[in-house]
Amino acid sequence: MNVQSSDRVLAHSPAPEPVVIRERGQREVFCGLTAIVWLHRRIQDAFFLIVGSRTCAHLMQSAAGVMIFAEPRFATAIIDDRDLAGLADANEELDRVVNRLLERRPEIKMLFLVGSCPSEVIKLDLSKAAERLSKQFTPDVRILNYSGSGIETTFTQGEDNCLASLVPECPVQSETSPASLLVVGTLADVVEDQFRRLFAEMGIVEVAFLPARTSGDLPALGPNTHFLLAQPFLTETARLLKERGCNHLSAPFPLGEEGTTAWLQAAATAFEISAEVFAQTTEMPRARARRAIAHYRDQLDGKRLFFFPDSQLEPPIARFLAHETGMKLLEVGTPYLNQQLLQPELDLLGNDVILSEGSDVEAQLDRCRQAEPDLVVCGLGLANPLEAEGIATKWSIELVFTPIQGYEQAGDLAELFARPLTRRGKLKV
Ligand code: SF4
Repeated sequence: MNVQSSDRVLAHSPAPEPVVIRERGQREVFCGLTAIVWLHRRIQDAFFLIVGSRTCAHLMQSAAGVMIFAEPRFATAIIDDRDLAGLADANEELDRVVNRLLERRPEIKMLFLVGSCPSEVIKLDLSKAAERLSKQFTPDVRILNYSGSGIETTFTQGEDNCLASLVPECPVQSETSPASLLVVGTLADVVEDQFRRLFAEMGIVEVAFLPARTSGDLPALGPNTHFLLAQPFLTETARLLKERGCNHLSAPFPLGEEGTTAWLQAAATAFEISAEVFAQTTEMPRARARRAIAHYRDQLDGKRLFFFPDSQLEPPIARFLAHETGMKLLEVGTPYLNQQLLQPELDLLGNDVILSEGSDVEAQLDRCRQAEPDLVVCGLGLANPLEAEGIATKWSIELVFTPIQGYEQAGDLAELFARPLTRRGKLKV
């Protein structure tokens, strides 16, 4: 792969490959705490206790909104000035908060202690805290920890860190277990149900999801486990699963008709499902997906698209929009480009696409303005200024809050990009 750093040093390889602009400048991204918003909805008996500052509490409050009718399943144990100054024993205070919480909320079966920038700065060892508290609360409550800190991370890595903390908890698969399929990455319940139905129709019945809806539902792992990633940002989780002997089924991600078909095909191949059965299972939903996407094609075809690096979902989304809606890719930015996990997507994207990895906001803004896109996919921090300049934007965080995977969601995914163009078109009239 050709490498181009932000100061324009080029290293050419003889093979024609896409250009990757590597940037290491200023970043404008949310931190990993944000992932709690969709993780707590998915794991319905888990609680996320952020060990952080008032800033962390405010971020979560505004990202998740205020819950009036339900008891929230996340909270922040505030590290205050006394803790920061080393005047109080933060561990004692944490134990007190956890005891109070678990006494009051007996329905909690899994508690995540979520690290933040402040807890990392004062070097509060949350893995030790989780170990200590586990002794007290096992078997009623499983207590784990992971980092959601914004130091050197992007918001989707919060999910990767959370799922990585679950892998060691998964039991060992017995050697005689039949081959099983594990789908890794948070999906909406409705999407899980659709995929389960498709796998069952193909004849794949030993299927588990990580994370599952309930925290105790942890899959057994071993060499008979084949896993498919449903999200492209699960680098650490995938590494740990491979360490446990599981077999990664490399595939494009299940976005749009093309991606979903290729993703399902990877499972079908591993489980030796015949081409005929696969075609029978997928024919109707594929046609439905094509029809739903076609509805938005007129609005999207030929529109010029620029991605700022934000969610790591950018390459598969770009592939979907270019192949299935006719949008033109100007630049596809991503915070990290895990070539191993993304190779099937990069193969589909082809060599003409310009990829950028990492951030240098000012340089990217210059390139974006120069390219004159019709639509920019970016984080919330850049969206308002770009809108003020007359450029239509799509918030990339919506791509993790909205069910977009699978055939039945392909039309909704296209609509997410058509909507801001329609709105901007109306504003111009
Ligand atoms: S974890 Fe760090 S970046 Fe995230 S809200 Fe707290 S202080 Fe801010």
